[in-house]
Amino acid sequence: MGKIIYPRIEINIGKIRENTEYVVDYCGKKGIEIMGISKGICAMPQLVEAMVEGGIRKIGDSRIQNIVNMVEYGINAQMYLIRIPMLCEIDDLVKYTLGSLNSELDTIKAISESAKMQNKIHNVILMVDVGDLREGVWPDKVLDIVGEIIKLPNIKLEGLGANVGCYGGVLPTYENTKILVDLANDIEKEYGLNIETISGGSTLTLDILEKGEIAKGITQFRIGEAILLGRDTTNFRIVPGTIQDTVKLKAQVIEVKTKPSVPIGKIGRDAFGNIPNHKDMGNIKRAIVAVGKQDCRIDALTPVDKNIEIMGGSSDHLLLNISNTKYDVNVGDIVEFDVFYSAMLSLMTSKYVNRSIVG
Ligand SMILES: *Cc1c(COP(=O)(O)O)cnc(C)c1O
Repeated sequence: MGKIIYPRIEINIGKIRENTEYVVDYCGKKGIEIMGISKGICAMPQLVEAMVEGGIRKIGDSRIQNIVNMVEYGINAQMYLIRIPMLCEIDDLVKYTLGSLNSELDTIKAISESAKMQNKIHNVILMVDVGDLREGVWPDKVLDIVGEIIKLPNIKLEGLGANVGCYGGVLPTYENTKILVDLANDIEKEYGLNIETISGGSTLTLDILEKGEIAKGITQFRIGEAILLGRDTTNFRIVPGTIQDTVKLKAQVIEVKTKPSVPIGKIGRDAFGNIPNHKDMGNIKRAIVAVGKQDCRIDALTPVDKNIEIMGGSSDHLLLNISNTKYDVNVGDIVEFDVFYSAMLSLMTSKYVNRSIVG
């Protein structure tokens, strides 16, 4: 079989390096180290290497498979698993990472057992739920669980962490970052421990750092989107100082026709169970490009040509209104799209999408 080159996601490695340098430098000046988060690019090793060249010393990923790939490729960074570990991945976790984010004592006990067997020390960053209601220990339970963790052999309590924005949509504030810093002080007082890392946020926390509204004492951010796309989806903004056009999708036109904008016939549900809602614009010029919901979160794409409109799609087809573009679109042409975070994530994981590094 010949090589299928479209749909293709193109990632500009030089721009990712530049974004990394910028974020590392900007946060470094304010006393915050960056854990670079590689899940958005499926930890593609050449790109992770560019992040390391840009000044990253710690890499975090949510999938142990990605971490194994990076270690086997020879990425020169300390690896952390940033999703709470599954009990079925503990041996690989201990073998391939320096540390992980955790919230369950039973899991940390299993890590301790495995670390003892493998004669290794595993660093634990204990996650605290400051209100977003995804992972984390409730703040008033932290001191007790820390008391248990520090009894476990081959475990080092490296610090505390928190995540907001991802599930509950809670935004970072002075108050919710202060919870972590206060808890770290309480732990130091109660147990005489030195808390090395206070991992206080992700891309969206950059916003309160810029405004000077972050609690003093936060030592680390875990950053993916700001480096990979120069954007902060949760706050719906670009990250000042970074480059945005880092990732593009290119897809090939397979049909061009003039047809009505409204389907003809009795309307049921579409292939994904939704009731379609079509605006009547009369006859329009339409193109189909060969990429679909099986490959990509299509609502997180925008055509580079602002005169092209995405009308919708199905598993394998993306439908475009090309009535207003000044270009003459033909079968075989390539249409280019800007890619937002969830589109990037899905495109990078689809085996039908060609990946190419440019720049
Ligand atoms: C994905 C993830 C991040 C990175 O978030 P960005 O918005 O891409 O910076 C940080 N922490 C955890 C736990 C994550 O899962």
